[in-house]
Amino acid sequence: MLNLVLFGPPGAGKGTQSEKLIEKYQLVHISTGDIFRAHIKDQTALGQQVSQIIADGNLVPDSITIAMLEEEINKNPHAKGFIFDGFPRTVAQAEALDKFMESINERITGVLALDVTEVELKQRIAKRQEVSGRADDAADKLTKRIEEYFNKTIHVLPYYEAQGKLSKINGIGEIDTIFQSLTAIIDSY
Ligand code: AMP
Repeated sequence: MLNLVLFGPPGAGKGTQSEKLIEKYQLVHISTGDIFRAHIKDQTALGQQVSQIIADGNLVPDSITIAMLEEEINKNPHAKGFIFDGFPRTVAQAEALDKFMESINERITGVLALDVTEVELKQRIAKRQEVSGRADDAADKLTKRIEEYFNKTIHVLPYYEAQGKLSKINGIGEIDTIFQSLTAIIDSY
């Protein structure tokens, strides 16, 4: 199986590149942000539990996020592989993912980290909000999300670097150029 983690701050282009990668490699896309938003829209118990946390730009607690992710993996027993988008966002989530993959005799193949400057991120998300209308894309919530990224999520990088699984990709430029950089790495696995 090809199991990829697409990593990067909010607005780095993870969603856009995931779409292209799942098509090329026939992977199952697991975006924890998308799953949470679907729960909120459907007003499930989980949705009600996390809606305020997400609206405020905070991270959902690890225990809730990990349980949801494991459930999503279990829903796809015939997958050729997974692309994890927006997960793991903490070292505890990365450790839980490794443990879970091991329990199903699988492993993370590689981690692709999109590198984008903070100025570029803020410009992109301001544009995205005009289209998405996502409450958590508003300027004050966005500041919180970027803060969460630099406080908690960034530590996931050395975790995977120590395993020799980390590749950094310049996330600024044409969508297709970035996609080619990603596929060159994936094809070398
Ligand atoms: P995203 O669409 O990936 O930017 O996620 C939107 C929001 O969902 C985040 O700001 C968090 O509140 C929550 N979220 C998504 N993925 C995770 C995760 N792996 N851990 C904790 N919270 C998450």
